[in-house]
Amino acid sequence: MAQNKIILYYQFAPIADPQAVMLWQRALCEKLGLRGRILISKHGINGTLGGEINAVKAYTKETRKYPGFKNMEFKWSEGGAEDFPRLSVKTRDEIVAFGAPDELQVDENGVVGGGVHLKPEEVNKLVEERGDEVVFFDGRNAFEAKIGKFKNAIVPDVRTTHDFIREIESGKYDHIKDKPVVTYCTGGIRCEILSALMKNRGFKEIYQIDGGIVRYGEKYGDKELWEGSLYVFDKRMHMEFTPDTVTIGKCEQCGAPSNKFENCSNENCRELVLLCPECAADDAKRHCVPECSVDREAAEANA
Ligand SMILES: [Zn+2]
Ligand SMILES: [Zn+2]
Repeated sequence: MAQNKIILYYQFAPIADPQAVMLWQRALCEKLGLRGRILISKHGINGTLGGEINAVKAYTKETRKYPGFKNMEFKWSEGGAEDFPRLSVKTRDEIVAFGAPDELQVDENGVVGGGVHLKPEEVNKLVEERGDEVVFFDGRNAFEAKIGKFKNAIVPDVRTTHDFIREIESGKYDHIKDKPVVTYCTGGIRCEILSALMKNRGFKEIYQIDGGIVRYGEKYGDKELWEGSLYVFDKRMHMEFTPDTVTIGKCEQCGAPSNKFENCSNENCRELVLLCPECAADDAKRHCVPECSVDREAAEANA
């Protein structure tokens, strides 16, 4: 029986002709029958693909032939092409939309001027040595931290990655500009950029976690500095590192423990709401605000 797999990957590397790389990648994926999503910019590539295991292996081998991608790490997980509606391979100004395509500088070693990479054990060592001085700074959208985060982390008021620059320029975090700050996100890609943007704005001692929460959780589960569930961008919606994970999220309707987001019952809204199973099953409660009538697509189109 054919075995299927999913891969996740990114690489920051200068790409002289993103359009040509996009066409090459699209043809390669089509030939191999892969589905998923790939973004390419002049700063690099970010992708997730699913397919038959030998086809996925062939993809990684071919992709590493591009000089800038030769050391790219692929994270393997369970799943397959059927987890994606189609194949989408596109060029963009940014592989993660911070709204700073001209600020980000990339060379053959990756992002220029980013935070120091720490392995999970080095994160713990930093906290052992510097104690409460160390600040954890969540590099995700604020809602993701409702179900899990580093203990005592700062969670910026960020709806999408686009909001980070406004937040770090707001003055709210000026008191941590001289402290050791550890930025973290799901797999590390967002902090590659965020940590550079923070350094450019006067945050002096910035770190980022190699491989993000995923790698930290694989090493330490929830026994050390991480607590709760991890929000993930696929149909699982959340994952736990151990069977003993504490549910830190609370149903937004009744306060019962929950780690499962639901879509607002207004289908034009698309907002995710953290709900317990009882409230999720109740049409009168499955919404972000009472009688939600938000039309987010129209609002974004007008913005
Ligand atoms: Zn509830
Ligand atoms: Zn809503």
